[in-house]
Amino acid sequence: MHKKSANSQSVGVDTDMDSAEREFQNAAINWIPAAVLLTTPLAAIVITPWYLMTHHVSMSVWVMFIAFMIWTGMSITAGYHRLLSHRAYQAHPLVRNFLLLGATFAVQGSAFDWASSHRDHHRYIDDPLKDPYSVKRGFFFSHIGWMLRNYPSRTQDFKNIPDLKRDKLLQIQHKYYGLWVLVTNVGLVAALGWLLGDVWGTLVLVGLLRFVLTHHFTFFINSLCHMFGAQPYTDTNSGRDNGFLAVFTWGEGYHNYHHFFQYDYRNGVKWWQYDPTKWLIATLAVVGLTSNLRKVDDASIRHAEVSMQFKQAQQKIDLLARHKFHFSQTVENVQARVQAEYAAFTQTVEEWQALKMKTVELKKDALVDCLHEVDKKLKAEYTKIERKIIAHEHNLKTVMRAIRSKPQRL
Ligand SMILES: [Zn+2]
Ligand SMILES: [Zn+2]
Repeated sequence: MHKKSANSQSVGVDTDMDSAEREFQNAAINWIPAAVLLTTPLAAIVITPWYLMTHHVSMSVWVMFIAFMIWTGMSITAGYHRLLSHRAYQAHPLVRNFLLLGATFAVQGSAFDWASSHRDHHRYIDDPLKDPYSVKRGFFFSHIGWMLRNYPSRTQDFKNIPDLKRDKLLQIQHKYYGLWVLVTNVGLVAALGWLLGDVWGTLVLVGLLRFVLTHHFTFFINSLCHMFGAQPYTDTNSGRDNGFLAVFTWGEGYHNYHHFFQYDYRNGVKWWQYDPTKWLIATLAVVGLTSNLRKVDDASIRHAEVSMQFKQAQQKIDLLARHKFHFSQTVENVQARVQAEYAAFTQTVEEWQALKMKTVELKKDALVDCLHEVDKKLKAEYTKIERKIIAHEHNLKTVMRAIRSKPQRL
């Protein structure tokens, strides 16, 4: 009886899944975005080389092309993404509005549409039915396919952006979005061309080519940054860190970090990683135009990295053991040393959790004015924990070096 009800329950779940998938497959075509997304790349590929071969384009038009690439591209990364979708920092109205105008030029939907889809992307990452640009449906879908039809994974109720819905300017941008796009991308670009003395050259480069490149550089984040690259922080989702893609995406190629620590205003968290969006936000903070930059603490970042390194080390040992490789030391020996180091690492993590609890307790009793005193007092203890985590990482690398040296099959 019990078995039968369990079976009928699972049949019920299957039927729900099937009907959800059927609804997905039968989604209606999104005509205007589909027409724009499919024709503009072709137009750019045909028109740009032809125009450049048959016309002279002045230096001032090229400078404007580069300036618009930077402005509109970073208005998506610093504006729509890190400011509006993640609230990773606060911006002076001047900066906020400048980024909002740039993002409107980028033609990637209203701020409501963009941020709502993006918050769902983080919440339901990799779910083929709920992540709006799930890479589990393949490269094309996650790149542009998800915008070509009215898929049910794109919610229209905006329940997940109550903070943005209260903003009057964003309401206006959403309501008259089509008009804004025409005024900026056709009207203002043509006016700029008139000022530069080359309307057609400006329309081709600053209008068409910049528009298509900015589109696809952003789309790379949803497609390629979920397919190629390293997973130094987590393997629980498809986000990848890819320094090469960071160059095209204004620093958003460090997508594994971003999916693990989404509220951090940085995506490339190491000082040497190329993240111009981070540099822009930090520079504006120096002159008071951005504030409350949210950062994940160093110990949490190290903890994620070292946890992942232990996991990857274990996977490597399992793989080598399965294929019967032998080394300067036996796999068993390496395995035992990794396990001992992992036990020590777990102990450090427990000390760290206890320190975090102690911080919460102390802050509860402290006066509001003295909260930073608590942080200052415990800073040395946090630094000690971080050093210990770094030592575990070092020890793990030393142990694993033994199996890096010329493994041979038995
Ligand atoms: Zn993503
Ligand atoms: Zn994000």
